[in-house]
Amino acid sequence: MSAKILDGKQIAKDYRQGLKEQVESLQEKGYTPKLSVILVGNDGASLSYVKSKKKAAEKIGIISEIVHLDEDTSENEVLNELERLNKDDSVSGILVQVPLPEQVNEQKVLEAIDPAKDVDGFHPANIGKLYIDEQTFVPCTPLGVMELLDHADIDLEGKNAVVIGRSHIVGQPVSKLLLQKNATVTILHSRTKDMHSHLKDADVIVSAVGQPGLVTKEDVKEGAVVIDVGNTPDDNGKLKGDVAYEEVKEIAGAITPVPGGVGPMTITMVLNNTLLAEKMRRGIK
Ligand code: NAP
Repeated sequence: MSAKILDGKQIAKDYRQGLKEQVESLQEKGYTPKLSVILVGNDGASLSYVKSKKKAAEKIGIISEIVHLDEDTSENEVLNELERLNKDDSVSGILVQVPLPEQVNEQKVLEAIDPAKDVDGFHPANIGKLYIDEQTFVPCTPLGVMELLDHADIDLEGKNAVVIGRSHIVGQPVSKLLLQKNATVTILHSRTKDMHSHLKDADVIVSAVGQPGLVTKEDVKEGAVVIDVGNTPDDNGKLKGDVAYEEVKEIAGAITPVPGGVGPMTITMVLNNTLLAEKMRRGIK
């Protein structure tokens, strides 16, 4: 059996078309969503990531600005900039690109974003809401994973879902979202003993570690759905997932490639959350 390939590029493209239509209908009501991204310094990867977010936003009619600050900007200056954006009524959503230079405390900055504009969903108020099942901004990669699972045509209720990784931005929120869908969720991490014994019974595997080749065909049950969040550049700069894709795709029921799986969905969910922010503050369902 060869797995259904969950083509994140195509799924993201279709999803963005739907978002574009929603942006147009908002514009007819006189509202245009705007995403402001703060970038501190000149890290090449961050710069290209921020530019691709801007391009993707503009393509569907969301206004986008990059607030580009010097590498030696102080923490206070970053906080002042955030305060300005929090108060700016034209701004629907704010992102702060990480990593930040060492003089700027990342957590302090993330906590200074108005939770109503926190489209990354990293503010403690939004994390808290996620855990009590209140509507909120859900972090973009986990949200993208759930959308991909939707395309795998799997009813998650009662299924064994195994998440590898317990970070605050991927592993833990995706586990919570799987739980909301009534899956039975197991979270594995670096201290887990005998990962294989957990993986072999999984109907769904979400791997978010950053270790190429971690999940092999011996770990995967026939027909399981495998979502690979891992995104590690090799020596030639080529991105590698956590899953041994070529061998696992021969036995999985559905699988995401890297690149072209979860990655395109993450940016799409940034756009989704920006639109949601605009709708929420205008009281539009
Ligand atoms: P992270 O904060 O470094 O977390 C990695 C997690 O993996 C930790 O919970 C760690 O366990 C666990 N881990 C490490 N080695 C392990 C092992 N041998 N077996 C089982 N678990 C192990 O990373 P992250 O930010 O969640 O990102 C994870 C991966 O996803 C990275 O490759 C990142 O680039 C990628 N990513 C991709 C996207 C995208 O849009 N495609 C977005 C975000 C992240 P401990 O907690 O015990 O240390």
